[in-house]
Amino acid sequence: MNHIRGSLIYEGKAKRVFECDNPERVLIEFKNDATAFNAKKRAEIAGKGRLNCKISTALFELLELNGISTHFLALQSETLMIADKVNVIPLEVVIRNIATGSLCRETPINQGTILNPPLLDFYYKDDELGDPILTEERLKLLNLISTSHLKEIEKVTRSVNKILKEYFDALDLLLVDFKLEFGLNSSGKLVIADEISPDNCRFWDKKNSDPKDRILDKDRFRQDLGGVIDAYEEILKRIEKDTSKAT
Ligand code: UDP
Repeated sequence: MNHIRGSLIYEGKAKRVFECDNPERVLIEFKNDATAFNAKKRAEIAGKGRLNCKISTALFELLELNGISTHFLALQSETLMIADKVNVIPLEVVIRNIATGSLCRETPINQGTILNPPLLDFYYKDDELGDPILTEERLKLLNLISTSHLKEIEKVTRSVNKILKEYFDALDLLLVDFKLEFGLNSSGKLVIADEISPDNCRFWDKKNSDPKDRILDKDRFRQDLGGVIDAYEEILKRIEKDTSKAT
């Protein structure tokens, strides 16, 4: 079901979104650009677009198989995804299984603390404001979504976490935390949008206890640890090994 690429609708930090010959769909191109700290740190990492597109595809397919609705429809090429056209809700929904990152910078919670139940945080998606964390009341005050959609987002995010945590555990990877974005498609249905990749998930290798070496995600870029592309390749390799086992 290949589509003809139309005009550019939106260019983000890691992706470009194009119109296509179906008004209810878009083509999403995964770029090699990497950014961190609100785009203050930037680099071009050859191969990242292809890896994130493939990893996201595998994870969206896994979620769909488990009854979770996503914007993913098909792959058109190694870096081009066909997806539902959605109105993205300006929320970053973060769920955390292990404390690290901003949680440990902003609170006295120790690095590596197991969070049970997983901690769900909402951030307002706005680079100029620095994606501020929202309280439940601020979220309601902003009036971004209905209460029922908010409840659905919480429920879906917790389900996705359970599915992905178990999936990665079997691949000897700890799913530390990740960020989801949601949108409403042309039928008004709530679906997961954006991507699910080492750019917006944290993965720690269970087979490695070194606190730096075990990192297999964008923290390698954020912390200048090197080996960014090798880490992303390793995630895809483990996913593909798992897929080949199933077929
Ligand atoms: N995250 C993201 N985009 C953002 C902020 C965070 O995808 O703009 C992801 C990040 O990769 C991690 C999770 O959300 O998997 C939690 O990030 P955290 O709040 O700890 O922020 P950070 O330490 O990256 O500033």
